[in-house]
Amino acid sequence: NKPVIAVVGRPNVGKSTLFNKLIGQRLSIVDDTPGVTRDRIYGEVEWCGKTAFIVDTGGIEPKSDDIILVQMRRQAQLAIDTANVIILVTDCKSGMVATDMDVAQMLQKSGKPVVLCVNKCDTLGEPSPEFYEFYNLGLGDPIEVSAVHGYGTGDLLDKAFSSF
Ligand code: GDP
Ligand code: MG
Repeated sequence: NKPVIAVVGRPNVGKSTLFNKLIGQRLSIVDDTPGVTRDRIYGEVEWCGKTAFIVDTGGIEPKSDDIILVQMRRQAQLAIDTANVIILVTDCKSGMVATDMDVAQMLQKSGKPVVLCVNKCDTLGEPSPEFYEFYNLGLGDPIEVSAVHGYGTGDLLDKAFSSF
């Protein structure tokens, strides 16, 4: 009965990149269903002697804004219903957008523990002004992450595992 961490967020914020980073590349590449090559969406992550399941809720992601919102609400609700802790991934380069606020509000109302990840913070040092916008989501202190470079993933896991 391992705890479950769900990774949610808008298309293109870097959910899958972060997921792959957290589970270690070796497990991440493909599912071996015959004839189908797709990204793995479940993995295990080990941190400080504890193990959790982690789920990438993305998948084939829509392009139009209204469909994105509907799908994100669905993903967030699923995460609320099934996960022990939720990582909400946002994007420092695009800054905070309305969809982030909508989903943040759902997560906050649920009372589930949420870790707010601000991804694509690729340079070390003083965060960009956009980073500070994410304090307004009301989900506590945002964590600066660069999934590509692996920055900030330790802080993210510290916070996620502290809620089990
Ligand atoms: P998803 O749709 O949320 O699963 O996002 P992906 O993981 O597919 O990433 C979307 C795009 O963002 C890809 O081009 C990634 O290479 C890029 N990306 C992901 N993480 C980072 C990051 O930390 N920094 C930068 N600069 N790009 C990133
Ligand atoms: Mg993805």
